[in-house]
Amino acid sequence: MTKLLNGNQLAIEIRKEISKEIEKNILNQKKRVPHLGIILTGNDQSSITYVNSKIKECKNIGIKSSLVHLPVGCLENRLLEEINKMNQNPLIDGFIVQLPLEKHINQDKIILSINPKKDVDGFHPENFGKMALNMKAFFPATALGILTLLERNQINISGKHTVVIGRSRIVGSPISILMSGKSHLGNSTVTLTHSHTPNIEHYTKQADIIIVAVGIPEFLKGNMIKKGAIIIDVGINSIKNEKKILGDVDFHSVYGKASYLTPVPGGVGPMTRVMLLKNTLIAALNRKNK
Ligand code: NAD
Repeated sequence: MTKLLNGNQLAIEIRKEISKEIEKNILNQKKRVPHLGIILTGNDQSSITYVNSKIKECKNIGIKSSLVHLPVGCLENRLLEEINKMNQNPLIDGFIVQLPLEKHINQDKIILSINPKKDVDGFHPENFGKMALNMKAFFPATALGILTLLERNQINISGKHTVVIGRSRIVGSPISILMSGKSHLGNSTVTLTHSHTPNIEHYTKQADIIIVAVGIPEFLKGNMIKKGAIIIDVGINSIKNEKKILGDVDFHSVYGKASYLTPVPGGVGPMTRVMLLKNTLIAALNRKNK
């Protein structure tokens, strides 16, 4: 029997909690509403869709958002200028630069230029380093969303063997750090696998928990897991011409063998989106001015 981990449902609950917290600790204290800045570059359709849904979610929950949309081919310096404005603006609590960036822009330079105190995506090395050292920081939204999904479903990960597939900066690497961290949400024994790992099923067959973030539709098959494993599917792969989205897990062969499974859509995705709102709330609560 496989239980589906419903990210949509949990995200609704967490949004309500955030709304209540905004009311209690911000509005009732006569402070101004949290304010998220968003910088979008170019005209990548997925990025535009993601940004629009972030703006909508902010609005629904009582967070103000401001979008700066720079045109295709905009110079790196122009983007740095906008980042600097957001860094300096006392009315912006936190902001994100929507990734990916166009090839001519140096992504590392961009991330390094964001004030870590406003880095609600948690991508700046100061936040990433603090996360690795178990210090208070902004954690990347997808990793935080996965941990919250596990925690709120009372899935204990301490002492379990977790195999993460994929080592990207935004998903695989941070989730492997957090799952193995010395905290009540960690203490798992983590094996991080990637494109240079031979014979991945050797690892996945031993895993109690598998987190898949490779960007390859239906990569993890039922015959690669042990019975009762907990499977977290991070993948969002849009299949051209079919107008559908597939995860990185072959749902049909894993369903029935796993004990828990996140559906795509409706699993990790909504949790990622709500964690950006949560990080924005934290940034607003951290502010010194009213
Ligand atoms: P990425 O392309 O940056 O990284 C992919 C990782 O997979 C790399 O580390 C690579 O080493 C590894 N990999 C590639 N081929 C492999 C193979 N054959 N065997 C083992 N490892 C392999 O991708 P990403 O940004 O981490 O995203 C991964 C997937 O998750 C994508 O589908 C993306 O759309 C999705 N995603 C979803 C959310 C969400 O909120 N649900 C958030 C971010 C990304």
